Amino acid sequence: MTEAEALEKKQHKSSNGNVPPEATTREDAFDHTYKEKEGPKPPRIIVWKNVILMTLLHIGAVYGVFLIPSASPLTLLWCTLKITHGTDLQAHNICNLCLNFNLQNDIFEWARDHRVHHKYSETDADPHNAVRGFFFAHIGWLLVRKHPDVIEKGCKLELSDLLADKVPSVLLMCFFIPMIVPWYLWGESLWVAYFIPALLRYTLVLNATWLVNSAAHMWGNRPYDKNINPRENKFVTFSAIGEGFHNYHHTFPYDYATSEFGCKLNLTTCFIDFMCFLGLAKDRKRVSRELVMARIQRTGDGSHRSG
Ligand SMILES: [Zn+2]
Ligand SMILES: [Zn+2]
Repeated sequence: MTEAEALEKKQHKSSNGNVPPEATTREDAFDHTYKEKEGPKPPRIIVWKNVILMTLLHIGAVYGVFLIPSASPLTLLWCTLKITHGTDLQAHNICNLCLNFNLQNDIFEWARDHRVHHKYSETDADPHNAVRGFFFAHIGWLLVRKHPDVIEKGCKLELSDLLADKVPSVLLMCFFIPMIVPWYLWGESLWVAYFIPALLRYTLVLNATWLVNSAAHMWGNRPYDKNINPRENKFVTFSAIGEGFHNYHHTFPYDYATSEFGCKLNLTTCFIDFMCFLGLAKDRKRVSRELVMARIQRTGDGSHRSG
């Protein structure tokens, strides 16, 4: 074991930032022992219900774009209130966040899929395996039955910490509140409020989040670990307000900031810091600078820039 590896092992055991190490989930650490099964791949089974729902959602969102000129400026401002990162934090159990405005499907299933994604990235057991192409990693994985290995490995994960989290209903937070607030507070029509703050906003947020699974697994550099597929992707960092530091995130999944640079280009981290300031979030975990530098030296692709 090299000096840098020893340092990383020691630091991971003794200090992850502000909280004791036992609070860190290890179900998101990459599992090098998993091997894909030999032989032909199982057939692709299309889930037509999801295909129809996703098609309708995207048609509704496109219609919402045409309604933008008739929306009040306050409604458009309201649409910019979006938070992608909360679900990721919950998946890694790296920050107890009380507010969550962007719940996707069932939060428990999402978090389980996300942990399997970290643990078996770019294999058959990864729900949105980017090796199967951009479309599959972006949205296609939601339109077909899961690969049997995703189900098998997902069932074996320890998820009791997620069961303890109480989260509000998806329909309420993703559709009802975004629609009712503009109608009730500043008299927006329910038609516009349904198609823009509810459907269009939700579709944009979904696609921005999916870019983390697709684009950030394909294009960008790998300053922290050149041996894994996830990359640092500036476009995704911008669109998913901070989630594009994906090489960092897969290298250190237990860091709440998902980036070496804290709040820089990372509005979500600023939001969590603010929630902590208000007392609505706690237990943020962070990786030490010393550990990050050691890892860059050991496994980085040489593209690292400080700041
Ligand atoms: Zn993650
Ligand atoms: Zn990823």
